[in-house]
Order: sequence, then C-alpha cells, then structure tokens
Amino acid sequence: CGIVGYNGVLDAKEILLKGLEKLEYRGYDSAGIAVHNEEGVTVFKEKGRIADLRKAVDGDVEAAVGIGHTRWATHGVPNRLNAHPHTSASGRYTLVHNGVIENYHLLQKAYLKGIQMSSDTDTEVIVQLIDLFAKEGLSTLEAFRKTLSLVHGSYALALLDNEDVETIYVAKNKSPLLVGVGEDFNVIASDAMAMLQVTDQFIELHDKEVVIVRKDKVEITTLNGRVVERAPYTAQLDA
Ligand code: GLU
Repeated sequence: CGIVGYNGVLDAKEILLKGLEKLEYRGYDSAGIAVHNEEGVTVFKEKGRIADLRKAVDGDVEAAVGIGHTRWATHGVPNRLNAHPHTSASGRYTLVHNGVIENYHLLQKAYLKGIQMSSDTDTEVIVQLIDLFAKEGLSTLEAFRKTLSLVHGSYALALLDNEDVETIYVAKNKSPLLVGVGEDFNVIASDAMAMLQVTDQFIELHDKEVVIVRKDKVEITTLNGRVVERAPYTAQLDA
C-alpha cells in the first residue's frame, strides 16, 4: 500500500517510521522496515499499527540506508510472515512491494521449484527470482532487470542488496513511486507527502524504469539500460 526509503547520512529508522505514519490514512494491515549498515540488513515487521512496529524496532541498530512498507494484503492473510519486507532464501536480498504480480504462480513453478518460500505473498516470488539470477552470475542490476522483464502486473519496488550497502534499487509499473532528492541524501516514496519531512524536490518515475538510489546519486534507466535524465519538481504541501 505504501513505500518509503532513505539513503543518506542520518539514522534511517526514524525517517522511515515517520514516513510510514504519513501514509497510515490510506489504510494497511501490517508494516515493516529494513535498515542496512556495515553489518548487513536488519528487518523489523509486525502485523497491526505503525505504533506496534515502533515497539519492535531495536533502537540500537543504526543505519543510514533503509526501506519501509505498509501492506494492504492481496495475496496471503495479514500476518507477520506475509508483512513486507521480504527476504530471499539466501538472505542476500530484501524487498518491499506495492501492487499485484499476476503471474507469480507461473513464475514460481517455472523457476523456483526448489526454493522454500517463507510467505504466501505474490511479492516473495520477485525477491527469490532476483536471488536466483544473481546466483547464476548476473549483477544485482541485471538480475533485477531480468526479473522485471518476466513479471506481469503492477508494482512499486524497493530492493536492498546485503552485499552493497550504498544502493537502493527501485522500479515501478502502474503503481506510484517517486524519488526525492536532497543535499546529502535521496529518498523514495509512493506519495510525496511521506517524505516532505526531508525534501520537497521529487523526480517522477515512469513505468518500467529502473533506478539506482545512492546518497549522492540518482540514476534512472529504462528496462533496456538507456539512461534517462529528468529534473525534479517542487512538491506542494496542501494543507
Ligand atoms: N500484493 C502484495 C501483498 O499482498 C502487496 C500488497 C500491497 O500493495 O500492500 O503482499
């Protein structure tokens, strides 16, 4: 239902939780965040309110990179296991997703027969495919692109790679997602409102674009890898 992300210099937890609170009015049944520091990716997720998630988040885990999600279940009941972020079997990739993957069942049968799934969501197929293609030798960006070329449906996605603490990978199709730009940070949000707390400069993304979000760089490319230049606009806060 809602997505946020932060890549910068401050502690990401509070920015992500505040962002998710701004999206609460849209409705959701569970919520989670994943933060990434030199020790790796740590996931916190809970069924219920952001207030419940807040209690579950370990204040000692400091990280300047992270992603967050509020879920409105479409595939799989609302519970902790089905809450996002979802992590691949090897533990390398962590993903949040808004939308619906229409062919998830076919993809699972075609590619993921030997993989033990840990949720009932359509989303988990995406993160497992990325992991599989990376194991087969593709870079994360290539594995992400290959997965997107196979997936049918709507998505806004944010991906963390345990082996690359500098990058959030982002893509969208038929679900809203924006990149917000700042001085020494960049953010993502399914609705600008979630990140007006840190910036009012947002870049619109088009369907099937793939974006690399680092703290000092945003690189938008098409699914085929062509680089896209797009200037930010100023988001208005309507009172
Ligand atoms: N289809 C996904 C799920 O059920 C994402 C739902 C959403 O957009 O919140 O987990």
